Amino acid sequence: MEIFKFNILPMEDIERREAFKEAVNNCPLCGTGLKFEHEVDFLYNTVTEDCRCAECAMKIRTETYDLQ
Ligand SMILES: [Zn+2]
Repeated sequence: MEIFKFNILPMEDIERREAFKEAVNNCPLCGTGLKFEHEVDFLYNTVTEDCRCAECAMKIRTETYDLQ
């Protein structure tokens, strides 16, 4: 019986994940953490996500997702 099992990722995988998280959560221009705002539309069952950088005073992206 195995009690402890550790999954250790290769450094390359960890770096790729960190780079992805950085790209999703930080401003591509200045690197500041982005602010996310969500608006739910129950008529169309969607949620719109606005993503802004407070430092650059810019809207970085807007995505609309379907609610499940
Ligand atoms: Zn910025």
